[in-house]
Amino acid sequence: QAKKAGGNTFHFYNRLMNQDTLAKIQLESELRSAIQQDQLTVYYQPQFDLKTRKLVGVEALARWIHPEKGLIPPCTFIPLAEEKGLIHQVGSIILTKACQQMAQWNGEREAQIALAVNLSAKQLNTPELAGSISDILHTTGLNAQHLELEITESCVLSDPEDAIHKLEQLKALGIRLAMDDFGTGYSSLAYLKKLPLDKLKIDKSFVDGLEINPEDAAICQAVIALGHSLNLTVIAEGLEHEVQATILAEQGCDQAQGYFFAKPISAENFARCYFKKERKLKQEENI
Ligand code: C2E
Ligand code: MG
Ligand code: MG
Ligand code: MG
Repeated sequence: QAKKAGGNTFHFYNRLMNQDTLAKIQLESELRSAIQQDQLTVYYQPQFDLKTRKLVGVEALARWIHPEKGLIPPCTFIPLAEEKGLIHQVGSIILTKACQQMAQWNGEREAQIALAVNLSAKQLNTPELAGSISDILHTTGLNAQHLELEITESCVLSDPEDAIHKLEQLKALGIRLAMDDFGTGYSSLAYLKKLPLDKLKIDKSFVDGLEINPEDAAICQAVIALGHSLNLTVIAEGLEHEVQATILAEQGCDQAQGYFFAKPISAENFARCYFKKERKLKQEENI
């Protein structure tokens, strides 16, 4: 009897141990079919000029429309895609869709806006990165000047010299580069000086406490000064309250995005929210 119970216990324990692994294998196979079945899509979050409050750009954010589970956020499948070697496919699907959409929007409107797309460290490791991005720009017809790639400090960490080389290839295409989540990683100021950047993105964690913590306000002010002295545009992410927009504007921060302005939304909703009024005005002008 005891032996039997022990056996069952072992079996149970073993199953528990494997539950995480099993769930991961399941999700990986689902992600593979999501790629095949075109379940990956792009949401867009607007970016505004803090002085004029004008729309200046959008950040493209990956979403997985799962047939049973619904909308899956990138934090559950981007790290998995990176681990399983699927990030190149996922990254190029998202970039292609976003470039296509932005080429269409900019083609329809006079005011041109920028498209920011996230790049994972693994993508920066591939030798053919610049070539494949150049192909995507050509096939979608998006002007390279309107594309901005967001890298993180971790992109530069493993092989800084190679990263700088890859980023220079991207710059040569006319693409702009932004350092995402600035201040949360481990990169040194020595690399910041060497990287061909155009923009610094102040991380949400410093924006969160802006109106309460003098330390956070001091960090935001310092990052803005640092960015400007290096001739970089500075954008803040994750603004949830008006007071944060007011303080950052006073501090001289150039741009901002966050739930206070808008959450990431589908392309259809984005056009409805931001471009419909324009189209209506234009139609009235034409009458
Ligand atoms: P990120 O690039 O720093 O993107 C900003 C994240 O903060 C987005 O989450 C956005 O929805 C969220 N956010 C923006 N404003 C606010 C706010 O006011 N409050 C709060 N609480 N959150 C806000 P999301 O879309 O879940 O993306 C998470 C991360 O996933 C991104 O962080 C990025 O690192 C990664 N990611 C998303 N799409 C892609 C992609 O296409 N490729 C790669 N490599 N990574 C991606
Ligand atoms: Mg980003
Ligand atoms: Mg960010
Ligand atoms: Mg962040």
